[in-house]
Amino acid sequence: MASPQAAALSGYIARLRPLKLQTQTETERMNHTPEDNMSKSKRRRTEDKVKNDDEDAKDAAAAISSGVTASAIAASYNDQIRPLLDAVDRLRHLKVTQEGIQLPTIVVVGDQSSGKSSVLESLAGISLPRGQGICTRVPLVMRLQDDPSADSPKLQLEYSNGRVVATSEAMVADAINAATAEIAGGGKGISDAPITLVVRKRGVPDLTLVDLPGITRVPVQGQPEDIYDQIAKIIREYIAPKESIILNVLSATVDFPTCESIRMSQQVDRTGERTLAVVTKVDKAPEGLLEKVTMDDVHIGLGYVCVRNRVGEETYDQARVEEARLFKNHPLLSKIDRSMVGIPVLAQRLMQIQASIIAKCLPDIVKQINERLVRSSSELDQMPPDLNNTGDAVRAFFHIVKKVCSSLEKILVRGEFDGYPDDCYFHGTARVVEMLNRCAKKLPRECPRRADELFLTEEMNVLEETTGINLPNFLPRSAFHVMLKKKLEMVGQVPQDLVNEVWDYVEDLVMKILLQHSENFPQVQSSCRRAIQSLMEKTRARSAQHVKELIEMELVADYTANPDYMNTWTAIMEGQKKFMESVEDMFKPTKITLQGFGEVDVSHLRTHADLAAQAFDLRAQLTAYWKSIVLRLVDGLALHVLRGVKRLVENDLEEELADELLCNNMAGVERMLSPQPSTGTKRDRLKKSIVLLQQSKEVVANIMDRISAADEL
Ligand code: GDP
Ligand code: MG
Repeated sequence: MASPQAAALSGYIARLRPLKLQTQTETERMNHTPEDNMSKSKRRRTEDKVKNDDEDAKDAAAAISSGVTASAIAASYNDQIRPLLDAVDRLRHLKVTQEGIQLPTIVVVGDQSSGKSSVLESLAGISLPRGQGICTRVPLVMRLQDDPSADSPKLQLEYSNGRVVATSEAMVADAINAATAEIAGGGKGISDAPITLVVRKRGVPDLTLVDLPGITRVPVQGQPEDIYDQIAKIIREYIAPKESIILNVLSATVDFPTCESIRMSQQVDRTGERTLAVVTKVDKAPEGLLEKVTMDDVHIGLGYVCVRNRVGEETYDQARVEEARLFKNHPLLSKIDRSMVGIPVLAQRLMQIQASIIAKCLPDIVKQINERLVRSSSELDQMPPDLNNTGDAVRAFFHIVKKVCSSLEKILVRGEFDGYPDDCYFHGTARVVEMLNRCAKKLPRECPRRADELFLTEEMNVLEETTGINLPNFLPRSAFHVMLKKKLEMVGQVPQDLVNEVWDYVEDLVMKILLQHSENFPQVQSSCRRAIQSLMEKTRARSAQHVKELIEMELVADYTANPDYMNTWTAIMEGQKKFMESVEDMFKPTKITLQGFGEVDVSHLRTHADLAAQAFDLRAQLTAYWKSIVLRLVDGLALHVLRGVKRLVENDLEEELADELLCNNMAGVERMLSPQPSTGTKRDRLKKSIVLLQQSKEVVANIMDRISAADEL
């Protein structure tokens, strides 16, 4: 909404402020305290109107009996509201509620036979289907429009997607019954598809109300078993939105707290702030009525209006005269305040409430229409293009592949994750590095050995078994190899686990990204899945081979150019002399602390002093060399994994997907051409919704223009 329009609307609404939703007492108070912040001329206008309202309310009954009902009600109406109400009615007619936009609505609820239809009839001055059984079986939207030029009432019914049927006062009951039968069947079933009845008549209040099926606890003959649930569902749908005003019709003949309609409206409007009560049949049960409406046991925030509807074959005018007479002369009913009795007062109150609720809701409706229009349009833009031939399909397919690969390259190679700022799972490089770090931690920093092993016994055993015919100060190479092989076997699974973990993760990531980018073509997703699975099998096999080779290479030769090896070995060997003294000299302590090995006990070595020096050297070599091995393994694995990932996203994935989908004469991409019912439906739905929202936008734009024009006067 453009800001000048917004300003115009808020100005307009500010002027309607005296009509703000008020409780009955507030209304009375307000009538004597006009808003201070109004300009003088506006205040005068409002004061005049308020005075009119006030006088109208007081004189309503008298006016009716003097036969000027129509003009009395009409004169009380604030003309400024009419265009707003028309706009809301047009939005309702466009079915903007289907887009989830709630309209300010007065909803009539009541237990069965409480007099709902009779109240509407009284407000409209026409006859509606009435009776003991269930009569209102579908929601009936009643649009009453004051038409001073109408000599006779003009009635029309609108239902079932645009059917418009002109009717007459005499025929309206039959016409509604026929339309109901068409919508909800000839039996006693109900439906939530509404009928709209437009009544243009001189002197009717400008009001739009929705009459709902009455609530029945017990199904009558011919009604479905779950009738209560069905009706309750429709009612709840209408009264739950906070934009709805609940007009609760209560019969004076019943105890209000036992009314089902009270229970239901309290569920959605606990404090009663948007509930107004109409008490019918006051002629039948005048006793105790004054107490009932003043005690307000059932929390009706917007107050009570007591009415007497048409009885029997009375005409509308006769009924109003009878009503006025009743409230004036009846010994009990005449005690009820005049601001709480009679159809004219009810009409007055409803118009007032309607004006304030529309003024309150309209800015938000304008906003919602615009938001939804933007959303639906961009959703439609994102829909896949229509594919007409194999060329189109191939192009669409490679477009998907390109998007998948570039997306994977970003998250797995370049470490950019702007597409998923909050979803760590998709921060690919960080997750792979995490796995590498975990793997490096699992590879022991010191050469692994059994915790309970006595110092150097493993080395001694190996030396004994590899002993040959040679000089005693020669360390046999085979002894070192046997030891190395044993140690490498202890950690061999760790690199294997790492590559498995990495490829499991990458496979899952590739699948997820692919599903995201191909959601418009579900018909190719299973082939793509197959292609990825087969590609990942190959990748895993390659990695398994690589890991095997890494370990094998370690066994081929003991070699390192890392100067750290010699430094460490020399440092450890400096302790050899101290160690040998401890082994050979019975008087030295058996517990000593050695560089590289910590505190050790040598007592068990004293009987094997001949091999101890060699065993010590063997251990020194292994300890120094182990560090190089671990470094080499971790670095090798990291580079292998990174290269694998790069190769996958830069080459293999595209190739594999293309092979799978283009093989067999492009059978895979051909499938993309087969129409997708879900896409078609979605496209249609979006197009319809955009048309509807555009029309709605026009409706509100028109009203905005009128408001700005009115503002400039
Ligand atoms: P609905 O089922 O809530 O729509 O109720 P109806 O409007 O069909 O009314 C049920 C019955 O109550 C009808 O026979 C009406 O004539 C009668 N009725 C409604 N209002 C009044 C009233 O104010 N006084 C009297 N005496 N009867 C009424
Ligand atoms: Mg009814």
